[in-house]
Amino acid sequence: MSEIIGVVGAGTMGNGIAQVAARAGYAVIMRDVRDEFLQRGLAAIDKSLQRDVDKQRLDEAGKQAIVERIRTTTDLEAFSGASFVIEAVTEDLAVKTEVFKALDRITPPNAILASNTSSISITKLGAATSRPDKVIGMHFMNPVPVMKLIEVIRGIATSDETYEQVSTLAVKMDKVPLDCQDSPGFVSNRVLMPMINEAIFALYEGVATRESIDGIMKLGMNHPMGPLTLADFIGLDVCLAIMNVLYEGLGDPKYRACPLLKRYVDAGWLGRKSGRGFYEY
Ligand code: NAD
Repeated sequence: MSEIIGVVGAGTMGNGIAQVAARAGYAVIMRDVRDEFLQRGLAAIDKSLQRDVDKQRLDEAGKQAIVERIRTTTDLEAFSGASFVIEAVTEDLAVKTEVFKALDRITPPNAILASNTSSISITKLGAATSRPDKVIGMHFMNPVPVMKLIEVIRGIATSDETYEQVSTLAVKMDKVPLDCQDSPGFVSNRVLMPMINEAIFALYEGVATRESIDGIMKLGMNHPMGPLTLADFIGLDVCLAIMNVLYEGLGDPKYRACPLLKRYVDAGWLGRKSGRGFYEY
């Protein structure tokens, strides 16, 4: 397969996306702003593929072939031959807008530009380009190689053809694409975050302990982890940012972030990544 997929960002999501694209047989170019970030991304890909080799889900030659299909660069101009670019840079509208403007200038006019954003409007990103019909959301879940879903988000101008091409790509990556319209939080975070926020309210109001809240949701609802554990895993700053997107975007007070969540973020208690959130790590 000669089609080139560009991936912008080599972080948690970007390196996972590069890996699944290369595994599907595509030639991949992964771009980040510094070489050390690219090296870190490649190391994460190697570690993830090695796990599959150890579990005999992949042989050594297969692993090598996947790794060899991934090229890295710090130069966005390298995407001049890409038919598909998936953006997974920092969740910041200004940063993403700049990336989309540059991609619009550099990539062939028929290339599809997808964003892995969790909360930024696809319609807005499309408006930053001269091809809003070819701009779409491809919301992968973390960890990318493991999670089956891609939430595919249609901006107001996204064409049916673009949607079909993205769905085909998703299936080739061994994922399940499910679509929704561009709306704050899409479907995944619109349903998940208020549940997490409500669990935090329950803790805040002393309805139950953290262990009890998590245990009730885990054992009672068959969730793989409780909502407070999940919040710590996602990052409390990320949870707060998404609640604010829902609150501002939908203008309904039912989406107001719990004061306890705000207080934890103010304290720098961001969950796993900072060593403390609703639990200690
Ligand atoms: P991350 O911080 O791990 O990685 C972001 C990477 O983008 C960094 O390596 C950074 O150097 C790079 N970057 C910043 N500006 C760039 C530019 N102009 N060009 C190239 N690279 C640039 O972040 P992440 O967790 O991988 O998140 C990336 C995107 O995926 C965000 O939009 C986020 O909302 C979304 N997302 C994250 C998760 C998750 O669980 N982490 C899940 C779904 C979606």
